[in-house]
Amino acid sequence: VDLPIHDAVLGGAAARGELPALVDGVDGTTLTYAQLDAFHRRAAAGLAGAGVRKGDVLALHSPNTVAFPVAFYAATRAGAAVTTVHPLATAEEFARQLTDSAARWIVTVSPLLGTARAAADLAGGVEEILVCDRAEGHRSLLAMLGTEAPEPRVAVDPAQDVAALPYSSGTTGVPKGVMLTHRNIATNLAQLEPAASAAPGDRVLAVLPFFHIYGLTALMNAPLRLGATVVVLPRFDLGTFLAAIERHRITHLYVAPPIVLALAKHPAVDGHDLSSLRHVVSAAAPLDAELAAACSRRLGLPPVGQAYGMTELSPGTHVVPLDAEDPPPGTVGKLIAGTEMRILSLDDPARDLGVGEAGEIAVRGPQVMKGYLGRPEATDAMVDEDGWLHTGDVGRVDADGWLYVVDRVKELIKYKGFQVAPAELEALLLTHPGIADAAVTGVLDEDRNEVPQAYVVRQPDAGDLTEDDVIAYVAARVAPYKKVRRVVFTDAVPRAASGKILRRELRERA
Ligand code: ATP
Ligand code: MG
Repeated sequence: VDLPIHDAVLGGAAARGELPALVDGVDGTTLTYAQLDAFHRRAAAGLAGAGVRKGDVLALHSPNTVAFPVAFYAATRAGAAVTTVHPLATAEEFARQLTDSAARWIVTVSPLLGTARAAADLAGGVEEILVCDRAEGHRSLLAMLGTEAPEPRVAVDPAQDVAALPYSSGTTGVPKGVMLTHRNIATNLAQLEPAASAAPGDRVLAVLPFFHIYGLTALMNAPLRLGATVVVLPRFDLGTFLAAIERHRITHLYVAPPIVLALAKHPAVDGHDLSSLRHVVSAAAPLDAELAAACSRRLGLPPVGQAYGMTELSPGTHVVPLDAEDPPPGTVGKLIAGTEMRILSLDDPARDLGVGEAGEIAVRGPQVMKGYLGRPEATDAMVDEDGWLHTGDVGRVDADGWLYVVDRVKELIKYKGFQVAPAELEALLLTHPGIADAAVTGVLDEDRNEVPQAYVVRQPDAGDLTEDDVIAYVAARVAPYKKVRRVVFTDAVPRAASGKILRRELRERA
């Protein structure tokens, strides 16, 4: 798809007129498609007037609001590459991203101005800090909607020009800036279409953050391209989330496993009418088949679908197509059009594996990133000369082409020559009625063997679940080498904004 991302997404927006494009899930503020189209063009003119030029990097620092997409598409239309910033980033973290991405502009919201100013100072200054709303002393995108300035006409080369510079989640190390071109993102949107069912009249709940590539695609670019209405929530809070589904008659949810877990197990769900839901998809982290089934049974829905991807893949390679009959439990989907995949032996990466064998997933296609910003060695370590991106994830494919993700290569626990996937044990632990949440990492025991250690959050009404209970529960259900050998009870499992378990933090605690 050789269109700049703003045209690929908003090409049909003006014609949709009064159809609501975005609704604030809390206060009800609504933007129609006609307004989204007009406002992002006016804001692009305003940004160009402020001095934003082709190739500049603009940091977008905001929770999910109806203005977020306006700011995003205004910036790309003005020629900028947008680096999206976690709204809860500290000034130091934000400053690191400003420096790393060489961002010259910040667009933020007034409640976050203090952090944005501090970050800009730490990074040695930026051209200007603008706000989406209004704040004393700062130019405002809202005020720019009145500008008479002509819309900027920036020539975009979709194959080369970077549209977005999201940072990877930092699950395995320092977050890396990922250069995604207009073509990367627009092509991937088209490739993911066979799984995208949201249409005009449907309502998608945007509770995962837009700043992460999953939210940016599944909750912003895809539904706005298809003419659905996006209801935005600034953060996840179970009560507000359930109330928003009920109040806005949400039809589509794109979530991560912790939310599927809450929908399957949390008592609060019973107090809400969630009958408007038709389609629930989970991505970003391993989802257990049992848990997915429990969620869809409770909601009376077709099976929870999955998708697989990563920031470096714009983000997707696998989805469950809408027309698939009976996708098998636990699959993350089938390879999308225009993409190739190999499963490579973990012992000998040059060797391709066959059906049913687990190895590292490698993929090639038009959605593979242009590269990591400023990290050529890291890019070369991930993408080989032939264009294959080595995902660092372990997977296997069945005879019908369904992919199953096992875990990350680096997370596999090596117990006496066997490999144990923490994700498998986590999924099993969650089937225990007394366990609300769980994580597993490898720790060294007295004999210097790496063994699985479970971190367990008890269900509030679970009584006195003991370490021995947990160990026995797992031991009864897995091969002996996979046994959980230690249990630590904890109040919460540390997770990234995208829902991933931060095993690094658990290991540091241990
Ligand atoms: P970093 O690369 O900075 O360590 P990260 O890999 O968590 O962080 P993302 O790009 O947000 O950053 O996440 C991509 C990863 O998420 C994939 O490599 C994979 O491990 C995991 N993932 C995505 N979708 C699924 C899924 N459906 N099932 C299992 N794992 C998934
Ligand atoms: Mg990664």
